[in-house]
Amino acid sequence: MSGKRFEGRVAVITGAASGIGAATARLMAREGARLVLGDISADGIATIASELGATGVTGDVSKQADVEALIRAAVDAHGRIDILFNNAGIGSYGNSVEMEAEQWERVIAIDLHSVFYACKAAIPHMPEGSAIVNTASISGLGGDYRFAAYNAAKGAVINYTRALAMDHAKAGIRVNALCPGLVDTPITSDLNQIPGLREDWLSRIPMGRAAKPEEMAAVVAFLASDDASYVTGSIMVADGGTTACTGQPD
Ligand code: NAD
Repeated sequence: MSGKRFEGRVAVITGAASGIGAATARLMAREGARLVLGDISADGIATIASELGATGVTGDVSKQADVEALIRAAVDAHGRIDILFNNAGIGSYGNSVEMEAEQWERVIAIDLHSVFYACKAAIPHMPEGSAIVNTASISGLGGDYRFAAYNAAKGAVINYTRALAMDHAKAGIRVNALCPGLVDTPITSDLNQIPGLREDWLSRIPMGRAAKPEEMAAVVAFLASDDASYVTGSIMVADGGTTACTGQPD
């Protein structure tokens, strides 16, 4: 790994209290970033903010005013934002007949609208050389059975990432998406309660295991760093080979 890639850089991370967001916050802190961390969990954000000496902001990313408050906290404290990691998200189990409209709307609001709210508020404060990373999913590239709303939200995050990359390239802001496969975080531990689902997913991963959150953080850090200075509009898959497979059995 190169030296301190984020020395003095101001990074805002949503969904930073757990999983991929927390692992990325820890990595960026080790590499010198000044962090402003957001999460809906007040206890969770207080814990990680105090661990890393970061600013912690409690809020719900599905509410535009809460996202604006997070961005304002970063700008008030540091005067600019160099890295925006739009990572907060929830899973959602159910096909279109099984789920109610409230569930659909909640998933689209948390997993998709939040990315727009954060980009709209942050981009005017992002100087040339800044980077945005959006957490999508391989569920946005192909469909997962019975994850209708999640597939829709993550697919939209992927194409929105391309639109952002194009619209802000001349301002020197790079925008990329991370598409994780299965990662061991609380989001997936909830799904362990669905009989057989985890075993089924694992059987489809050529590497034969889920990722650790730290393995996603390493990819996010690359995309957010100057090492990726010519990378924008890319959809970075980190899935242990899952989407490389046609679905034929081993
Ligand atoms: P996680 O549950 O560990 O972390 C998600 C964080 O987002 C939590 O801290 C949670 O409190 C926060 N959050 C949830 N709703 C929020 C809201 N309304 N406002 C603010 N914060 C909110 O799960 P994770 O796996 O680290 O998930 C991070 C991202 O990775 C999500 O966007 C998820 O969809 C995506 N992802 C995860 C996997 C996986 O297998 N774990 C795979 C693909 C994509």
